[in-house]
Amino acid sequence: MIIAVDGPLASGKGTIARALAARFDLPYLDTGSLYRATGIAVLDAGIDPADEQACAQAARTLEIADIDETRIRTAEAGAMASRVAVLTAVREALFDLQRAFATQPGGAVLDGRDIGTVICPDADVKLYVTADTETRARRRWCELTARGETISLDEMLAQTRERDRRDAERSDAPMRPADDATLLDTSSLSIDAAVAEAVAIVEKRQKA
Ligand code: C5P
Repeated sequence: MIIAVDGPLASGKGTIARALAARFDLPYLDTGSLYRATGIAVLDAGIDPADEQACAQAARTLEIADIDETRIRTAEAGAMASRVAVLTAVREALFDLQRAFATQPGGAVLDGRDIGTVICPDADVKLYVTADTETRARRRWCELTARGETISLDEMLAQTRERDRRDAERSDAPMRPADDATLLDTSSLSIDAAVAEAVAIVEKRQKA
């Protein structure tokens, strides 16, 4: 079974995708981490984020095992990720890896922005997880400040809007729900309630 979980920043898609992977005993890939790691590699190598071929080369030579989990979770990494993610050559460079992960025997859970539309249009279950912008900005702000980053809530809200705009308006694989995705709005749901709804959606699809 392939489960595709898409949605904007801090919608809860990562938490839900991880919980589904545990519940249905499937391997899990956070595809955002690939774009974040590419963004950091571009930054570290002093590559111009507008240089498509150089950014794609950074994506191609990414060593998954070497990804620094702490560093890719910063606001800077998120912003860089959404800049390199608009580049078609970068998306192409990361396509095979994601597709291979999704099609491994037994299936997988992947979360991102284009899993249900581009990476796994044939997924058995597609979820599009969302929440209102203020709620998402506040969630991400709580996460980042708890980790010691200094950022104001206003700045976080502005960054959230900018990331959403860039992800939704890019020409290649824009963030959007697949036509056959089930929408899950987590604005007023606890984590447990959101996970329970997601599990129920998957179980319903399995029965169908
Ligand atoms: O999900 P996360 O916030 O970690 O993703 C970081 C950025 O990577 C997103 O804002 C988006 O620009 C990009 N991304 C993407 N396609 C995916 C996953 C992430 O374009 N499948």
